[in-house]
Amino acid sequence: DLSTSTSGAQRLPIRPELAGLEPYGAPQLDVPVLLNVNENPYAPSDEVVADIAAAVAHAARGLNRYPDRDFEALRSDLAAYLLAESGVALGPEQIWAANGSNEVMLHLLQAFGGPGRTALSFAPTYSMYPEYARDTSTEWVAGRRAEDFSLDPRAARAAIAEHAPSVVLLASPNNPTGTALPLDTVRAVLDAAAQVPGGCVVVVDEAYGEFRRTGTPSALELLAAYPHLAVSRTMSKAFGLAGARVGYLAAAPALVDALRVVRLPYHLSAVTQAVARAALAHSAELMAQVGALREERDALVVWLRARGLQVADSDANFVLFGLFDDRRAVWQGLLDRGVLVREVGPPGWLRVSVGTPDETQAFKDALVEVAGL
Ligand code: PMP
Repeated sequence: DLSTSTSGAQRLPIRPELAGLEPYGAPQLDVPVLLNVNENPYAPSDEVVADIAAAVAHAARGLNRYPDRDFEALRSDLAAYLLAESGVALGPEQIWAANGSNEVMLHLLQAFGGPGRTALSFAPTYSMYPEYARDTSTEWVAGRRAEDFSLDPRAARAAIAEHAPSVVLLASPNNPTGTALPLDTVRAVLDAAAQVPGGCVVVVDEAYGEFRRTGTPSALELLAAYPHLAVSRTMSKAFGLAGARVGYLAAAPALVDALRVVRLPYHLSAVTQAVARAALAHSAELMAQVGALREERDALVVWLRARGLQVADSDANFVLFGLFDDRRAVWQGLLDRGVLVREVGPPGWLRVSVGTPDETQAFKDALVEVAGL
């Protein structure tokens, strides 16, 4: 416990709300089948690796200089990608990026949260949200999702009216449940947020957006009508680039300008920018894999249900399944067989990421043994 360490005869003035807390993060264990943090199971192809290496070599020649602070070229490439992926046309001034969408959302809380203000979300949801709030001294309020993990628009409207938040965080598809929000629900939240006297930014976290089922629109489609909407995305999931740490958002230019105030200067390294751009040049190839992962997900849901398990409908690259009286024992049993999943979500549930067909098979084999299916 750092706060009570006496080795220097000096107490560290850790903020009281941080005292004794553990850093967030799933166990990073060295096992054969890693299905615990919703990564893309496919490593970049040789062609992508070669282009990334060449782009990094080029960037290395200029590493004595600070990078482009406003990452103009990357913003244009991200806008072009979103147009191709969602059919929504955006200008580079509507794009923001940072080291993972975690940092993007921290920027949002730094700009729009803060002491005396409230951030609102609906649980169960991504467990980092309360941490962004805590770290920016923003009050955190979690409403509830329905039994089937959907969000009741009336309950959402009522919570916004009651708490008058300055930020609402909605994950769609949601982590850990996989639930996608209909645009009507997002619209209801945006309309309620527009009534908050001091103003309220609605963040739709589409970290898993590319995995949504055909016909499910992205909240990007609402940007033109709602200047207080931010849609967050990441290259960590569908793009298979979790190690590069690149997240981004799309919003009205005025909202993006507010984020520019709180970012640290040169927060996106020249290497990061080069890697992201080289990968984006291959987006067509990477998106083809997304189709395969979606099919693998749907097949996994069918398989689990056929064995009598409960499974939440998923628009993401993971599946929440249960219910287990002792989920810890199931998690441990899978781990003993070399398969790492995540113990997360309401009691009794476990979450498994969609892997390669071989990894999925290993998971199924292990689960049959452990849960006696
Ligand atoms: N949002 C959600 C819902 C997530 O599940 C994650 C990753 N687990 C993130 C954001 C952050 O991802 P990254 O920082 O890698 O973009």
